[in-house]
Order: sequence, then C-alpha cells, then structure tokens
Amino acid sequence: MKPVGEAEIRGSFVNCSKGEARRINLPRNLPELSWTDLDFLGWRDPGAPDRGYLVAERNGELVGVTLRVAQEVRRSFTKSTVCSICVTPHSGTGVALFVAPRIGAAGRQGNTVGTYMCADLACSLYVRGVKRTDSGVRFEETLTTEERILRAAVNLEGFLDKVFDGDVRSA
Ligand SMILES: [Zn+2]
Repeated sequence: MKPVGEAEIRGSFVNCSKGEARRINLPRNLPELSWTDLDFLGWRDPGAPDRGYLVAERNGELVGVTLRVAQEVRRSFTKSTVCSICVTPHSGTGVALFVAPRIGAAGRQGNTVGTYMCADLACSLYVRGVKRTDSGVRFEETLTTEERILRAAVNLEGFLDKVFDGDVRSA
C-alpha cells in the first residue's frame, strides 16, 4: 500500500466516533514501516491490549476499522489455528478472534462482525515470508507469494464488506 500519515489514518475510521479516532494509539514506528510489504496496515493498541486496528484501501478509499479481541471459549493450546484473512497457521495465541462493530445504525445497536486473524495483524508480512510464525507448523502450499497476497486481499475485502453491510454508502 502507499504510505499514509497520521491525519489520513485517523480520518479513515468508519466504525467509531471521530473523538475515538482522535484518541487511537497509532503504531510508534509509522514513518519507518516498510509500506511496500503491506497490503493493509494492522496493529494492536500498545495501550489497550484487547484492541486492534486495520487500515486498508477499499474501492480506492482508505478505510480504517477498529477491532476488539473477543473472549474465546474454544481456544485450544495444542491445536494450531488458521488466520481467516491470510490463511497462515499459528499455534497457541497466534490467532485471535477479532470483532468489529458494523458501521452506521447496525453498529450503534451493537451489531458486530467477527473474524479469526493473526493476533499481531501482520498478515501482509506472513504471506511474504518477511515474518515467520513460532508455531513450527510448516506452511506447505503450492500457491506463489503473489497468489497468497491476492487470496488475503480477497478475504480482507469480504470481511470489510460485512463491516459495511447495510450501509447506504457502500451501495
Ligand atoms: Zn493473517
């Protein structure tokens, strides 16, 4: 993705109030990020461990989504789990269930969308092999890096569509 600055990021959030967007803790290393390795910007809140954020391009516009880590009931520490976006297998706590408030009236009524995702939201780096999991799970796939990037983009688009579902602006 192309590099974006603090103002653009704060202005991109669609599923929280403007006040909330102003108070979001941004990644500390924003200017040094390797943007060419990123399909979207994802990070966990350094000040609030149960919160995460992702900022991505959707239909040519920058879209930011706030996420919250859901309490898990079926967590298994022996089984590996797979990210629904980038399909990277992790063990233990490497994958988390994130929920995002839907935008608009649905979200204000408490309606959320959930997805299992790499707990550090670094999907872009896993698909490129820039970052490796500590699971020891070998990723045996015949897909090329480009194909994995494309698959993650399609999965992310599907998730964002659900966050936007029912909103008149997305029609
Ligand atoms: Zn992932």
